[in-house]
Amino acid sequence: MFYIKSKRNATKRKVVFLQPDQKYMGILVNKVYNDFRYHEALKSCMNCGVCTAICPAAEFYKYEPRKICNIIQQQNEAEIEALLRSETIWYCGQCMSCKTRCPRGNVPGTLISVLRRVSQEMGFFSDSEKGRQQLAIKRVVGHSILNRGYCVHPDILDPDLHPEQGPVWAWFKENIEELTEKVGANYKKDGAGALRKIRQENLDEIKKIFDVTGASELFESIESFSKTKAEEMNLGFEQSDEYFMEVLTKNSNNHTI
Ligand code: SF4
Ligand code: SF4
Repeated sequence: MFYIKSKRNATKRKVVFLQPDQKYMGILVNKVYNDFRYHEALKSCMNCGVCTAICPAAEFYKYEPRKICNIIQQQNEAEIEALLRSETIWYCGQCMSCKTRCPRGNVPGTLISVLRRVSQEMGFFSDSEKGRQQLAIKRVVGHSILNRGYCVHPDILDPDLHPEQGPVWAWFKENIEELTEKVGANYKKDGAGALRKIRQENLDEIKKIFDVTGASELFESIESFSKTKAEEMNLGFEQSDEYFMEVLTKNSNNHTI
């Protein structure tokens, strides 16, 4: 048992870090409760529903942050496992609107971050359509950060995969050097400016950050569990991008209300 000081009112708040030997504890509850973000994310939920009312994701998806807080608060391992295997935890847009309104100071959006991490670690993410997209995000955005130093970079955008952009991206990519110069960017060149080349020493530093924070390990976990799922689904994984394209493009249209 530990005590921390709340910055807001400078009073002591008791925080209990549950241990696996307590009889009601299971591994999932333990993982959630021992994530350092948990104690900011969920203090005590009274199920008022204000977070659901403000949540933009709840307006469109089969998603209620109130229900998620309730499931976690009840510590029911079976329900938590079902949640971690479901589509639900992937609907949150991480806008943090819920943080501004909760009368108890909870942050359901941060709780979602915790749950997503546990789902990734345990491989449960590969049981849902939205969860399986973790592989696409890892390979596209994650690799771009490591290899280029940018989350999103025009070089990784394939216009054929983004028909929603119309012909604009194709035109931009065909004329990228001329267009980036016109807007004062420094496309893939040394020195300062938008889209500049990121130096290798900086990329090495990013890799080190990924290694020490556990992000590299999480990447390996996503690859490994995705490979297992690809085998289950009888889709090519290493020799072809069949599974990757499946998770990137599949939409069952069964997510919205
Ligand atoms: S607004 Fe806060 S107290 Fe109300 S249901 Fe959401 S998390 Fe619980
Ligand atoms: S952070 Fe997630 S749960 Fe919170 S309001 Fe935004 S979409 Fe909803």
